[in-house]
Amino acid sequence: MHSACGARIIRAPLKPYIRLIPPCLVRFFARPYVAGDSLAKAIDTAADLFARRGLLTTLDLLAEGIDTPEAVRANVDAYLAMAEAASTDPRFPRPEVRPTLSLKLSSYTTEPRDRGGDGRGSREAARRICAAAHEWGIGVTVDMESSAWTDFTLDFVRELHRDGLRDVGCVLQTRLHRTERDLEQLPEGCRVRLVIGIYQEPESIALRDKTAMKERMLAYAARLFARGHYVEFATHDEAYVRRFVDDVVPSAGIGPDRYEVQMLYGVPRQALLSELTARGVRARLYVPFAQGWGMAIAYLRRRLDEYPAMMGLVLKNLVRRS
Ligand SMILES: Cc1cc2nc3c(=O)[nH]c(=O)nc-3n(C[C@H](O)[C@H](O)[C@H](O)COP(=O)(O)OP(=O)(O)OC[C@H]3O[C@@H](n4cnc5c(N)ncnc54)[C@H](O)[C@@H]3O)c2cc1C
Repeated sequence: MHSACGARIIRAPLKPYIRLIPPCLVRFFARPYVAGDSLAKAIDTAADLFARRGLLTTLDLLAEGIDTPEAVRANVDAYLAMAEAASTDPRFPRPEVRPTLSLKLSSYTTEPRDRGGDGRGSREAARRICAAAHEWGIGVTVDMESSAWTDFTLDFVRELHRDGLRDVGCVLQTRLHRTERDLEQLPEGCRVRLVIGIYQEPESIALRDKTAMKERMLAYAARLFARGHYVEFATHDEAYVRRFVDDVVPSAGIGPDRYEVQMLYGVPRQALLSELTARGVRARLYVPFAQGWGMAIAYLRRRLDEYPAMMGLVLKNLVRRS
């Protein structure tokens, strides 16, 4: 396949040892990061995080290897049910504390752009979800995938905003050099999640150095504030979270209603999150869940491939807890 910049993109094969891990072990290593195998369990998790720790959430249905129109339809239906459940559950008493939804365009097409396809059908399907979520009073964030998806995804978000779906947010990956330009072309007032990006990209279009990516998070957050955006600062790096809330936010003269800090469910950052919520900083966890483990295993195996350190961290946490 060819990316927008003309380079040929091939999805990297999984590391051989990751391919050999049996599904039960994949599940074991990824278990702390998944809120269960049903929508009811995900909503219970979100309600519990809010009631006990004052944490907000964004829900994500794990789905990978969507290869039939039926699987696409099932995925759309699942997200429609998520929007309704998030809106109507009485454990979320005010609209601003309801879970939002996070979705990936690749979950709604049998022609994924990172495997040579054109993403056919995905924007139409995601638009249905965003429109329904809007009716239910639920925000949606369109996750960012590999660089084969960047233009396609940002164009989609701009199109939705033009059509009045202004509660749809997007994600910018600071590792990509293009992000500097992309942030100048976002729809006015759009919610923006800033991340370093999880996809390995060629050196010609992306940074390789993590510290440089994180420094860009701080610089881009300041620029987004200046442009009037709501900033979702998504990292587990405590030093950078602190620099964001203690330096960038006060320098920009921004109130607590214009930003939040986001982390993944399961990454052990309890003390930091408690401190932030006690200080009145909004904190939101990204809560993935599955509907049956079959679909989730492929996704989780890829996360392990991208972040093998996860296995060591799970074991370390197990030892620490026991
Ligand atoms: C809420 C949220 C949404 C995201 N959405 C997207 C997206 O749409 N597109 C995209 O490309 N990327 C997304 N990401 C992933 C992001 O791009 C990074 O790859 C990821 O957050 C790891 O980078 P870091 O900034 O946390 O720094 P790192 O240096 O990788 O991590 C800092 C420390 O946090 C810990 N840590 C980090 N990740 C994990 C983990 N998975 N398990 C256990 N410990 C961990 C480690 O101790 C590490 O030393 C998202 C991340 C978050 C938190």
